[in-house]
Amino acid sequence: MPRLIFLGPPGAGKGTQAERLAAIYHTPKISTGDLLRAEVKAQTPLGCQAKVYMDAGELVPDEVLIGMVKGQLQQSPEEGWILDGFPRTLAQAEALEELLQELGQDYDYVLNLEVPDEVVVARLLARGKEQGRSDDADRSVILKRLEVYRQQTAPLIDFYEAKGRLQRVNGNQPMESVQEHLQALLEGFRRTA
Ligand code: AMP
Repeated sequence: MPRLIFLGPPGAGKGTQAERLAAIYHTPKISTGDLLRAEVKAQTPLGCQAKVYMDAGELVPDEVLIGMVKGQLQQSPEEGWILDGFPRTLAQAEALEELLQELGQDYDYVLNLEVPDEVVVARLLARGKEQGRSDDADRSVILKRLEVYRQQTAPLIDFYEAKGRLQRVNGNQPMESVQEHLQALLEGFRRTA
């Protein structure tokens, strides 16, 4: 079971691909967007706080996410997990390095799904109609999320590239093709340590 981190703009297909790989490798998927939406739905105090940021297309504060992912990783098998939607800021990426060090684990691949902006906007508008996600229904919120991505999340590409850990994947293809590419990449995976 590999330990994977998915990067990419909103609408890149991280959730879809993470879901598929999780099923294939019998690995838990930790999706921070899904976890936050569940909190919002259950109207927990955390959910009520997070909703304000999510509806505005902003990121929920780092402390909330770091605490959430820490709890999830502590409960996940050490052999494998898939992170979808985390980290999204440099502070989160640095906290993740520390957390994994504490847990005596390391990630195997950082998968960056590359998709052009205009494709992302079209996909998110379509998803807003299909799934009724409020943050996908409004073009101005979508553009805000892209801006937040560019400012706060895109720097993670350099962060992981500098560590020699980044794998670039063309996300602007049919879902099946992206999945095949990812599986081919993971095919030779064997953890030695
Ligand atoms: P997603 O489903 O991954 O697009 O996430 C939906 C929303 O949840 C985002 O627009 C953010 O408001 C919030 N969110 C999810 N993951 C994170 C994260 N790692 N850091 C901050 N906010 C997040």
